[in-house]
Amino acid sequence: MTKQTHSFQAEVAQLLHLVTHSLYSNQEIFLRELISNASDACDKLRFEALNDGSLYGDQPNLEVRVSFDKAARTLTITDTGIGMSEQEAIDNLGTIAKSGTKAFVEKLSGDQKADSQLIGQFGVGFYSGFIVADKITVESRRAGSPAAAGVRWISGGTGDFEIEQIERAERGTSIILHLRDDAEEFLNGWKLKQVIAKYSDHISLPILMEKEEWKDGENDQPGEMVKTGEWETVNKASALWTRPKKDITDEQYQEFYKAISHDFENPLTWSHNRVEGNTEYTQLLYIPAKAPFDLYQRDKHAGIKLYVKRVFIMDDAEALMPQYLRFVKGVIDSADLPLNVSRELLQESRDVRLIRDGSAKRVLSMLEDLARHDKHEAAADAEGVTDVVSEEDKAKEGKFSQFYAEFGAVLKEGLGEDFGNKERIAKLLRFATTTHEGLNTSFADYKARMKEGQEAIYYITADNLAAAKNSPQLEVFKKKGIEVLLMTDRVDEWALNYLQAFDGTPLQSVAKGAVDLGKLQNEEEKKAAEEAAEAFKPLLAKLKDALKDRAEDVRATSRLVDSPACLVVSDGDMSLQLARLLKQAGQAAPESKPVLEVNPEHPLVKKLDGSVHFHDLAQILFDQAVLAEGGMPEDPAAYVKRVNALLV
Ligand code: ADP
Repeated sequence: MTKQTHSFQAEVAQLLHLVTHSLYSNQEIFLRELISNASDACDKLRFEALNDGSLYGDQPNLEVRVSFDKAARTLTITDTGIGMSEQEAIDNLGTIAKSGTKAFVEKLSGDQKADSQLIGQFGVGFYSGFIVADKITVESRRAGSPAAAGVRWISGGTGDFEIEQIERAERGTSIILHLRDDAEEFLNGWKLKQVIAKYSDHISLPILMEKEEWKDGENDQPGEMVKTGEWETVNKASALWTRPKKDITDEQYQEFYKAISHDFENPLTWSHNRVEGNTEYTQLLYIPAKAPFDLYQRDKHAGIKLYVKRVFIMDDAEALMPQYLRFVKGVIDSADLPLNVSRELLQESRDVRLIRDGSAKRVLSMLEDLARHDKHEAAADAEGVTDVVSEEDKAKEGKFSQFYAEFGAVLKEGLGEDFGNKERIAKLLRFATTTHEGLNTSFADYKARMKEGQEAIYYITADNLAAAKNSPQLEVFKKKGIEVLLMTDRVDEWALNYLQAFDGTPLQSVAKGAVDLGKLQNEEEKKAAEEAAEAFKPLLAKLKDALKDRAEDVRATSRLVDSPACLVVSDGDMSLQLARLLKQAGQAAPESKPVLEVNPEHPLVKKLDGSVHFHDLAQILFDQAVLAEGGMPEDPAAYVKRVNALLV
């Protein structure tokens, strides 16, 4: 069998360049990544062997061995896991299967610091070996294949790799790292044990290293550590989540998170529980500090690993966590599910439903806890006694805001997805408002600040904050000093459909339906408005006629102060902004015509009556209302022509 040379997929080559150039500051993480892969490979074998015990052959042990050779300057990580066939080695180590990889690589800027952050979210896995190695040899044989079907893969981590068939007696994989000059410190048993203890203690498989002994030098030669040929387990080798909470340090929880998520940053918070009741399971759930690059990818899977009685069953078990909590990472270990559970079966299982409900509730509790502590200030009571803020409480300060900035928009999807927890989700939402900048007003805060006589929670949706803030629809609210929630996430309008009221107070879009300020308008104002509308009727009729192809209706309004006109849609209709978004996305949007509301007090409107330019002015009025709410006139050139004609 001859050697073949293959090129890396373009994105892999780019990624490799980055790995070697920007992950320098934290070299030792390569060992965590490679041991994690070895452990996954053993998990996969255990799982496949549930159906075919012969895969174990004459090697029943699942384990990882770490060894080094000072003279050859190599470090080797060997596992007795599932192994790879030749084709699998080509595919798995030469391409990246993750969706969105291309987009991800395009986002990389070449700025090392920024890129190393991004790369942390992406997870470099196997390629992290090139942080310390200038050449990697992988030797592998898939479980169940004959010894002659081994494979050797060699690469210097630049454009290509070599592959050849080899004889390999054992199943599983050896990763042989040919270390760079500046990575010599890893040719040291003590150092390796230290790194393994730090990053891989929680791995449930035994990680073995050869015992060393100190041998005094002879004839004035210095002494040295020599290998004894005896192997010892250097990690705890029990799955982290199966240990009692009190025996686990924060650092261990954090390292476990990094190992399962490939995130380089610590999580914001976590929760570890054993749940007993209708179904029994252990959950260890983490909320990341940063959103992953593919949070909005449609085929993005959940970050939950499913175990059954400590046997790994599958990654990305989406049935175990609702979609809107897809950012949560962690492990769920069920005592009741069958070991041969498939994804299809998961969808239908009652136990799974219970686990999903329990997990969603647990995540919401974690978020509620962070929200409670977000602005934890020591409060003094009447006697001037200041309560003590514990270190633990202090540590949680600001974390909710951080969470919300990253994942708030995703959380909102829960209003439409998780009816059972709608109230709890609504309480966690935060908005900017016309009077309070920053994403930190909750519905409850808003209610506490409502004016006397105000009967609704008012909100406006727009493409961005500036458009929301300057919308003509807000004018009367500004004049009256009524706060309005500014909603600028794409998901807002859809999500708000599912929330008609908060805590008994209805939610009202200021861009929908006729404005009804109810008790906020005094009798005088009401009367004046009615009179104006009455006197305005003949002009309205003319406007309606001039705009009959474009506007569903034309009516007088008291919602405007400085603007001559604005567009509104009927209650229950889709907002113009959402209709626009759908059209941009190439989807069908209902072709309903908006209502033009006109401010009878505005000079431009007053001028309309009896103007010889009536028809043109009417069209301009309408087009300007379209512009003001962020849209585009149907015929921009005609609009410009009309305005110019008047200017001249
Ligand atoms: P990830 O682990 O996130 O999928 P990696 O780049 O770390 O990405 O690895 C790519 C693939 O290579 C893995 O999904 C797996 O199929 C294969 N692989 C890596 N290491 C091993 C190993 N020790 N044994 C078997 N397969 C492996």
